[in-house]
Amino acid sequence: MSAPAEVMFPDVVVRSGFRGYDRKTIMAVLQEMVDCAGGWPDRAVPGAKVLLKVNMLSAKSPERGITTHPEIAAAVGLLLKARGCGVFVGDSPGGAVKGVERYWKNCGYLEMSRETGIGLVNFESSGSRRVEVRGRSYNVAVPILEGLDVRINLCKFKTHSYTRITNALKNSFGIVPGLGKAMLHTMSPRPCDLAVNIVDLYEVAGFDLHISDAIIAMDGRGPSTDGTPRQDGVLALSRDGVCLDAAMCAMAGLPPLELDTTREARKRGLGKAPQEIVTDGVHRFENFRIPGRSWMNSVPPFMGTVARALLRVAPRSNEKCTGCGFCARSCPVDAIVIKNKRAVMKRGKCIMCLCCHELCPENAVEIRSFFLRKTKR
Ligand code: SF4
Ligand code: SF4
Repeated sequence: MSAPAEVMFPDVVVRSGFRGYDRKTIMAVLQEMVDCAGGWPDRAVPGAKVLLKVNMLSAKSPERGITTHPEIAAAVGLLLKARGCGVFVGDSPGGAVKGVERYWKNCGYLEMSRETGIGLVNFESSGSRRVEVRGRSYNVAVPILEGLDVRINLCKFKTHSYTRITNALKNSFGIVPGLGKAMLHTMSPRPCDLAVNIVDLYEVAGFDLHISDAIIAMDGRGPSTDGTPRQDGVLALSRDGVCLDAAMCAMAGLPPLELDTTREARKRGLGKAPQEIVTDGVHRFENFRIPGRSWMNSVPPFMGTVARALLRVAPRSNEKCTGCGFCARSCPVDAIVIKNKRAVMKRGKCIMCLCCHELCPENAVEIRSFFLRKTKR
């Protein structure tokens, strides 16, 4: 008797046409997508603990297209709860060193959690541990390393002024709690250096499944308030984050290996060559404006830190600043003083943690970096 033929599942499943974040619709389509990709991760059995790692970059409404929409977490979480799993949502936003609660509330997760019983995990307060990856050392949130059976990456598909695109791989950066992320940015002056850290952290995170929220995506000067939200109506799913990023880059018009993170991952043998990726469903992100490649990648490694130090521009307050001093009290390195009723950020001290940008009640802090490049098209 011959062996049964091996069933082949697509590497990436794409569904489009979503008109918003209707939970019932998303749950039905997501279940079909999961089935199409070969089912839920094997360890997602009754009693399993599942973490949904969202992108909660900024404490802004989900309609701004900056963060993973809470209805995606609700839909995935409820499908897994119906299988008997315990489900938790976690992330470490860059500016949340003074508390993540404001992020839970503004991003819609607090209300979603109360309504669905899906738990919230605070990466800032749950401790961290040093992890070695290929000779490099990282501080990683304990919930990522211990006590979980399944990790699901619920990333947001957006442009990024520094890394060009942020999706599955870049979302791994949030497993480093607190100011560690800002320090990594500081120590990796060129985007191609940061890509090495991002792929290291992607390997540490060991996600079992990746789901990308591009129902509201973002192009232009992402990944935060300078970007342009777009109603693309797309969800994409894969068991492999490198394949997912490559497929979505291609759909947005960027050759996948032009992205530093995808190229770094492929150098390590992760994912698949773009031409070998099998996709079920397709979407074209029309006129998706992606920041150009940074010239910093052409600077020799030993010059990178010097060039960045010389050209880096600290955040600055604009005319909306009332001089309330909230940012100065929140800055972790005391880099802000109030002069003539206006916040002044000291470039030499600033570590670009973005706390002032996130916390200012007047939206008066602008991040204008030399590295913000023109977008193409
Ligand atoms: S928190 Fe905002 S308004 Fe208050 S001083 Fe800082 S920049 Fe100005
Ligand atoms: S001035 Fe710099 S270090 Fe201080 S809060 Fe703002 S971004 Fe962070």
